[in-house]
Amino acid sequence: MTLQNLRIAAGAIVLFCVLLPAHAVTWTVRSEPARLVNGAPLLFRVKPPAKLDSLSGTWLGHQLTFSYDAATRTWFALAGVGIETAPGKYTLELTGARPSPKPPLNFSRSFTVARATYPKIKVELTVEKKFTEPTPEQLQQIEEGKKVKQDYFNRVTPDREWSGAFTTPAEASISDVFGSQRIFNGVAQSPHQGLDFRVPAGTPVAAMNNGTVLLARPMYFEGNFVVLDHGQGLLTLYLHLSEFKVKEGDVVKRGDVIALSGGTGRTTGPHLHVAVRWQGTYLDPARLMQLSLP
Ligand SMILES: [Zn+2]
Repeated sequence: MTLQNLRIAAGAIVLFCVLLPAHAVTWTVRSEPARLVNGAPLLFRVKPPAKLDSLSGTWLGHQLTFSYDAATRTWFALAGVGIETAPGKYTLELTGARPSPKPPLNFSRSFTVARATYPKIKVELTVEKKFTEPTPEQLQQIEEGKKVKQDYFNRVTPDREWSGAFTTPAEASISDVFGSQRIFNGVAQSPHQGLDFRVPAGTPVAAMNNGTVLLARPMYFEGNFVVLDHGQGLLTLYLHLSEFKVKEGDVVKRGDVIALSGGTGRTTGPHLHVAVRWQGTYLDPARLMQLSLP
């Protein structure tokens, strides 16, 4: 290196230090809640070291699109940990786009996922035989229902429609929590993928957040079924309804009455089963309602 080049290099280093004060070169990345467990939704909050045009990330194989919260000057994205995720360390990879010609900024941070304790109480339930031993005709209806769900559930809308906290769909006590192990007619089922509210038939059911009605139709297991799309792969599902108050394509606001509860589909009696689906994974609705969201 010539003396001339050395001077230029030294000058560049000085300039670099002036332009990038020490406090601004680090990322702040945190999760709410701080303790992550399988089956739980969470909010990532990110403070990047520079102004970004957009921020995206990957987490447990999912794509995250962050929104900017001007009030706290942070980027946020709702995400989750699937109930089947084993305890361990998992990495959140971030890519921030900057105005051209600046190169994107990358950052990664690992988070520890602990094992949640879900009730192991085995509940003996009796449902009609058609739900545990369906006939070939009923199997065909079940298959059709599966196809509808596969088709609609995978239509991820890129824009976020939810805003602020998710609120309860019914003012009622909980009759079964997320993650519990259930037995139907002596046959063990997969863990309970939703939250059950003890409500008589005909109780108004409210939208948990802003969204668009993705499905409002009768299904084999779900009974009369409403699914709201809150954007970016986040859905809320309302099962066993007696009456629809919305139709597919309707835009709803948090708290709007979307249906009346009932006892249709695979159920032992009238109640409201609510589920939260995020990019193919079911998350605990109770934990989602506990999150304070921007
Ligand atoms: Zn349920």
